[in-house]
Amino acid sequence: MIPISVVKLDEKAEQLAVEVIRSGVLAQGPMVARLEREFADLVGVEHAVAVNNGTTALVAALEVLDLRPGDEVVTSPFTFVATLNAILEAGATARFADIREDDFCLDPAALAAAIGPRTRVVMPVHLYGQPADMGAIVPLVERHGLGLVEDTAQSLGATVGGRGAGSFGLGTFSLYATKNLTTGEGGMITTDDAVLADRLRVLRNQGMRQRYQYEVAGHNYRLTDLQAALGIPQLAGYADTVARRRANAARLHAGLADVPGLRLPAELPGRTHVWHQYTVLVTDAAPVSRDEVAARLGEQGVGCGIYYPKAVYDYDCYREHPQVVADPAPVTERVARQCLSLPVHHHLADGDVDRVVEAVRKAAGA
Ligand SMILES: *Cc1c(COP(=O)(O)O)cnc(C)c1O
Repeated sequence: MIPISVVKLDEKAEQLAVEVIRSGVLAQGPMVARLEREFADLVGVEHAVAVNNGTTALVAALEVLDLRPGDEVVTSPFTFVATLNAILEAGATARFADIREDDFCLDPAALAAAIGPRTRVVMPVHLYGQPADMGAIVPLVERHGLGLVEDTAQSLGATVGGRGAGSFGLGTFSLYATKNLTTGEGGMITTDDAVLADRLRVLRNQGMRQRYQYEVAGHNYRLTDLQAALGIPQLAGYADTVARRRANAARLHAGLADVPGLRLPAELPGRTHVWHQYTVLVTDAAPVSRDEVAARLGEQGVGCGIYYPKAVYDYDCYREHPQVVADPAPVTERVARQCLSLPVHHHLADGDVDRVVEAVRKAAGA
């Protein structure tokens, strides 16, 4: 079986974890501080603030932007549910702008149309490992004087115009088990703004700067040193992780380019892709349906994923939700019917990728 994702940590992670166990500091301590410094360097920002998961990172980023009830956050409807849940948890209203088919991210034209008098924040989702079109999105955000929170959970290390995804506004990251870099559970918020970084640090620690001196009503959003220890060696090796994923994506691309009806993902000009997912579209021109291709891959021992099967607003619990404005997003709805993610992760060798190619060709009737 070739799974869609694999978690494998090396001896350096093991050694650092043992160091933490022997140190007696299991909660947030020096390992978290080290992870934060090295993470900030990788993204290319001044500050990184570690939190306990990626959803929390989104909530905290929205909280320090001081949203009030009725304030709207415009985001992508083609995302993991955490993006939406974080907006609701922060007390704001979610509105959606449709995606582009070539990058699966917010369409700047749809975003421009969705921005209205109640909009306070734009939240692009850098999906599958490639950033949204920040060259078009950032000027829109600036023209309207809005906040910018980038859901970078899937795109650590990707760039747009040479700048790191998550460095344009408040960047939020997930270190969940399936992500390119993992601490099991974990999250990070990145920013160049020292004031916001300071507020985030106070907020994650019960609103305390010094013990029992409360400045704001806070939370316990802390990451532990045991978790941070697992992430530090992966940060050091992250360039190799991305290089392997890029090589795997190129190999999939070469092997699948002529399959009829299959639309392959592309790295767009001016952006770099870190290949969290390699997602094809099984279009209406294909001789078999997406679900049929997925089933046939399973029979051949090749894992695949459908990220995501529906627009995120298209569930009963959100359709009638008072904080959700669900304008139709036709590109998202079509892409959700056609998308299929294939194994591309960095633990795959060339031979594994060749097996994936062979299985897909067979499953798609090539
Ligand atoms: C994983 C993910 C999150 C949430 O991260 P958790 O660490 O699981 O809370 C948010 N947004 C996107 C796009 C994700 O893929």
